[in-house]
Amino acid sequence: MAKDDRMATLRAARVAEAIRPLRVKPGSKIQLGRDFDPRYKADFVNKKDAAQILSTGVEMLTDYQSRLAAQDTYGLLVCLQALDAGGKDGTIRHVMSGVNPQGVRVSSFKVPSAEELDHDYLWRYAKRLPGRGEIAIFNRSYYEEVLVVRVHPENLERQRLPDEAKRKGIWNRRYREINDWERYLVDNGFRIVKLLLNLSKEEQRKRFLKRIDLPDHNWKFSASDAKERARWDDYQEAFSDMLSATSTDWAPWYVIPADRKWFARVCAAAVIVEALIDIDPQYPRVSREDREALEAERLALEAEAPKGAPVDPFLASGAAAFKRDRRKEGR
Ligand code: AMP
Ligand code: MG
Repeated sequence: MAKDDRMATLRAARVAEAIRPLRVKPGSKIQLGRDFDPRYKADFVNKKDAAQILSTGVEMLTDYQSRLAAQDTYGLLVCLQALDAGGKDGTIRHVMSGVNPQGVRVSSFKVPSAEELDHDYLWRYAKRLPGRGEIAIFNRSYYEEVLVVRVHPENLERQRLPDEAKRKGIWNRRYREINDWERYLVDNGFRIVKLLLNLSKEEQRKRFLKRIDLPDHNWKFSASDAKERARWDDYQEAFSDMLSATSTDWAPWYVIPADRKWFARVCAAAVIVEALIDIDPQYPRVSREDREALEAERLALEAEAPKGAPVDPFLASGAAAFKRDRRKEGR
């Protein structure tokens, strides 16, 4: 194995190792409060090194994203769920910083519109799925359909389902429908990464207070956030059931400890990077005929060089470094 390949394999193994404790084992029965600690922190990272580790993660993401786009075969969907003040916006901002905006689309899902309510419940999410070569981030996702809609049944009333679709067992049915939908997407080349930012009740209290204390943060806080906080236990139960029912081999959940923002960001980046490592997108190889056509073009362009100008200014400027890179990439 070449040295670069060995390094890449080693790096991939380290990333996989670091995020293993966060993965929800498919088929396990989860109680969020018992099984996942919002303050958990892995030994391999401390706050001092977090920025460095995150920037390495972001660099890897940038590289993989450009390969994903060039290959144009696979897509990646990232679903982010959390309670208010869980850090969804900040995670997206930090983790996707530096990634080419043309290859990434962020969609935030709010209270559904009248038009959206006029369709099946997955309709509005389907419209926002990634295309091949793209990364789509869902800031809240179709999982709200088994979270807020379950905690507040009036949302379900607004969906105007026929009676037979509202029967008892609706949540189990939705879990199954979501699992089936995800399996369909994965089978067709779309990887799905699901992250639950797991915040403690005390940390949410602190963050809410900060939003009230700092005038520039007031806009982030609304009375409805406090009302949702009052339903804390119901949400924990809905999260637990969701994790138990919808962490599958093809689209597992990761529970990200969210009380320390810097650790949550490192973890989120690591899970996304791991999915991309697994896809392993490659730049398309040029066929022999295409390569020959390119070489013919090269001769024609070189023949057009004005008097006194280098025939190929690019090669003339840094030919040695360029050739070295090509050799490294094995081209
Ligand atoms: P935010 O993300 O803080 O801007 O708030 C969006 C609001 O939309 C939250 O209060 C969510 O609970 C709510 N929301 C998101 N999806 C749904 C849904 N499918 N049905 C009802 N409310 C939703
Ligand atoms: Mg909000």
